[in-house]
Amino acid sequence: MIINKIVFILLSILCLLFLGLWYLRRVNNIMASSKQTASTSSLAFYASLFKVNVEDIQKNTALISKEYAQAIDDLCAIQKNRLTYADVFGALDFIQSLSRAATWCNVCAALEMVSPNQQIRDAAHTALEQLGMLFVDKLSNNKQLYLLCKRYVDQYMVNDTLSKEQRFFVDHMMMQFERAGLATDEHTFNRIAQLKKELVALGLQFDAAIAQDSTIVTASFDQLKGVRKEILDQLVQNKDNLYELRLDYPTYAEIMGKCTNGRLRETYYKAFNNRAYPVNEKTLQEIIQKRNELARLVGYPSFASFDLADQMVGSVEQATLFLDDLIVRCKPKVTQEFAELKKIQHLSVQWTVDGKLQPWDLDFVQTLYKNTYYDLDPAMIAQYFPVENTIQALLSIYSDFFGITFKQIESNSFWHDSVKIVQVYTQENQTLLGTLLLDLYPRQGKYTHACQMSIIPSFIEQGTKKHCPGLAIVLANFPAPSADAQALLKLADVRTFFHEFGHALHALLGATSVVSLSGTNTKTDFVELPSQLLEEWLWDKDMLKRVSCHYQTAQPLPDDVIERIIGLKHFSTGYFVQRQAYLAKLALHYYNAAEPVDLQQSMQQLYNSIITHVAYPEGTHFYASFGHLYGYGAKYYGYLWSNVFAQDLFTVIKKHGLTSQTIGKKYSALILQPGGTQDPTDMLIAFLGRKPDAQAFFDAMGL
Ligand SMILES: [Zn+2]
Repeated sequence: MIINKIVFILLSILCLLFLGLWYLRRVNNIMASSKQTASTSSLAFYASLFKVNVEDIQKNTALISKEYAQAIDDLCAIQKNRLTYADVFGALDFIQSLSRAATWCNVCAALEMVSPNQQIRDAAHTALEQLGMLFVDKLSNNKQLYLLCKRYVDQYMVNDTLSKEQRFFVDHMMMQFERAGLATDEHTFNRIAQLKKELVALGLQFDAAIAQDSTIVTASFDQLKGVRKEILDQLVQNKDNLYELRLDYPTYAEIMGKCTNGRLRETYYKAFNNRAYPVNEKTLQEIIQKRNELARLVGYPSFASFDLADQMVGSVEQATLFLDDLIVRCKPKVTQEFAELKKIQHLSVQWTVDGKLQPWDLDFVQTLYKNTYYDLDPAMIAQYFPVENTIQALLSIYSDFFGITFKQIESNSFWHDSVKIVQVYTQENQTLLGTLLLDLYPRQGKYTHACQMSIIPSFIEQGTKKHCPGLAIVLANFPAPSADAQALLKLADVRTFFHEFGHALHALLGATSVVSLSGTNTKTDFVELPSQLLEEWLWDKDMLKRVSCHYQTAQPLPDDVIERIIGLKHFSTGYFVQRQAYLAKLALHYYNAAEPVDLQQSMQQLYNSIITHVAYPEGTHFYASFGHLYGYGAKYYGYLWSNVFAQDLFTVIKKHGLTSQTIGKKYSALILQPGGTQDPTDMLIAFLGRKPDAQAFFDAMGL
């Protein structure tokens, strides 16, 4: 997963944000700080960004808001006889990616997720709300700014010398302006402006209701049979000695996969799938209705059409064809998978009369199946992945493949002592590409998923062609080391680590001179490719040997265990594709309906028409906590879509070798470094030497 606060706010207000503060006065200072290569001064600068208290956050945000508004007004009032790219689009590029406001917005987004201090997290959240509203007022709804850009394009661009990247950026920006409704008549525009502000508030409300759901399911020791002792030890017990189960992902995974009490699994599953219900019912209805209205005002039949029009997929029709084909293709595999699962007998599991498994039994049965037929105990495998060794192995593999070196820096100058600092250099001339902060362990109040965030983009300085290093963060929630034992990662954790590190390298290897389109600032249905690709390294025998190292014996995983792990490559991939396609179609359906939809009824109908072997969970309201419905809009299909290309690329790379620097550098140059400055299809064709093909994906999924 990738978090780009600017992009997230962008999605909610349907417009690129032109963040800017002090850019006229501060430009040289900021550019200088991001260009420094002496590690100490750079790190000191980075650390200072996060060393703030509540008062600092409030003061900075107020100051930024005021000066930012002034800076935008100054830009709009520019008086010159002849406008140049640098005057208009160059300035915008800087404001939205390198200005202090851009950095501050990302810092606040990070603080909200990682700060150990709740007051700081709350203050950062408030700051983001204020900045979001400000951006709508001063940028997304700024007709003057649009007219300035249009004046340059209509009158002066023809006589200006633009690079290919700059031309791409101008087209991209003008399209975003039009999508934001800035080219509409005044009456229409006023309504659009109002809708955008309402949507920012609704989106924050929708996300907050999910994050703040504090439902607790209680259970006795007997009911929790099967749950591992180390998990039980972490649970709070109430005055009646009942364990309190919160609705978070680690608890969900443990209860669903391990608890032998079917009744408790059902209760917990239903509570989990009723998070933010009923509060989000009305909020989601309003989001859908307002987004649809907005899309129609800018000339699209629905929000889904609007949302997909500037993506790789291009249209709702194309996305639907893609998903429908997958739904048909995966059906035989799903049937075969559930016939296999039926071999598992357990008192707590009951199949329905029409041969379906209950949703709260699925993970449990799958876990039993893997234990029975593959003898793979995740805890045993985890002994081969002590965290320190795994990090070193990952760095060494990526170092070989990309031709880069990593330097770990000892420092406790960031928000928590456990934050690790890794600097990335080129092997040829030791150019600093960027700095990566790894915050890997859970703690009270920290964001509970894994993700990557860019704080400062990497880019190539126009003119000097020097690489200006970026700053990125990888967040995860791996099992924490204790005083006497190091942390051991489950194989799924190692995959997550490879995935998020893939996003981080995409960000730090970014080498465009248009900074706003650097690294991961590419299309949503393309951005997961680099991460999905790198996950594939962990299905390779040699790579598993190289990464694994038993925490006591220092031995790699035995061959027979590796073979059994690889033997599970196609385990449940049919159901995975079926479920992902269902979720993708649900998002498309909600945002493509001509009339207001009945959220519950249409979800149930769609579920029953796609999901073949898992019964519909009556009495649940999953849509209320389907967070992607806000942040990703109608684009959930993007996960499957980008995976098709990731698998295609992987087969080509694998032929050359997973540590071949020749192919690694080609991949970096043609897919990562151009960021969002080229059409993704052109990039894929340049790398593959042919059009992309879905066969590799079908093979990888066993379809
Ligand atoms: Zn991701």
